[in-house]
Amino acid sequence: MADGDPSALDDPVALARTLVRIDSVTPDKGEAIDQVAAWLGELGAHLWHIEEAGARVPNLIARLGRGGPRLAFAGHTDVVPPGDPGLWSHPPFSGAIADGKLFGRGACDMKGGLACAIAAAARAEIPGEVWFYVTGDEEGPARHGTAAIVRWLAAHGLGFDGCIVAEPTSGAAVGDTLKVGRRGSLNARLTVTGSQGHTAFPHQADNPVHRLAAIVHELATAPLDAGTARFEPSTLQVSSFDVGNPATNVIPAQARAALNLRFNTEHTAASLEGWLGAVAERHAPGRARVEIVDVSDAFLADAPAFQRCVADAVATTLARSPQASTSGGTSDARFLKDLGPVVELGTVGHSLHRIDEWVGLAELAELTRVFTAVIESFREPA
Ligand SMILES: [Zn+2]
Repeated sequence: MADGDPSALDDPVALARTLVRIDSVTPDKGEAIDQVAAWLGELGAHLWHIEEAGARVPNLIARLGRGGPRLAFAGHTDVVPPGDPGLWSHPPFSGAIADGKLFGRGACDMKGGLACAIAAAARAEIPGEVWFYVTGDEEGPARHGTAAIVRWLAAHGLGFDGCIVAEPTSGAAVGDTLKVGRRGSLNARLTVTGSQGHTAFPHQADNPVHRLAAIVHELATAPLDAGTARFEPSTLQVSSFDVGNPATNVIPAQARAALNLRFNTEHTAASLEGWLGAVAERHAPGRARVEIVDVSDAFLADAPAFQRCVADAVATTLARSPQASTSGGTSDARFLKDLGPVVELGTVGHSLHRIDEWVGLAELAELTRVFTAVIESFREPA
């Protein structure tokens, strides 16, 4: 690439800006991921387009180099909806640059991080192989996104020696945080069936609201655990309590609640389901139903050698020492960890999913330097 060429593949700002200008509200219809494929193709990558039958979710696997240790970068091209564009200072898909910031939906989460990985691959001397796993559905149901990539890699006997998920996981400055695991998340619906009756004759009815209130009170106040060395204590929040009874003189027949739990490695989906069921049964014997809507287990990536390699790259390029963290929501690292050592490192997560989402041009420059150093120093972990 010529110096000063605005489309230079080693310029993360130009790459990020081009991606932000593509409206790829989840799932990516293909345009943003095709742009990534075109760039990686230009760098000489071998490309695989993965789309599971009937899913309409585009995914891309790319390999640069042939032979040697495999370093992978994972990311997504889809973005959450911008909300009311009128609330934005710069139109959400304009890619406006002002005050040292690139504005737009996806600038922070995570077209910026993806652009840095591509620019780093363009700059670096690659000692082995650099792989890209890019999905068009991380922000949506994500059933045929990175999960499909992992299924494809496993079916072809392929894995990696280290994988960086370039989500915006830094705290105040690029590289100050290295995500080495994530809490799990469980959504459940709780239904208590009573028997309807007149509020003046409660002995002839069974009030499900009272029973559900007792269940919810116990669930919300009982501590789940005291936390672990690597994780904060688990939490439960009641996100909805629904009776929908317009009558003032009727004891309703049913009451429902919705719960979200964020949990650490002291629990599994099965142990939590058992606990919810036992509490519900105690307050509403034979009348309560617990339904697990969705769940992702907590995990801690056991990858000390790879974490050290990435932390060393941060230290040599930015003179910062990253803190290992497991906070925040779930990410696609939960699928990738089954194939090899994984860490999450990206730009600062100041504005993800918000109006006027932005990424600092300096953040893009810093992250690209870190990624370049990781690629050039990457050796097969012992
Ligand atoms: Zn993201």
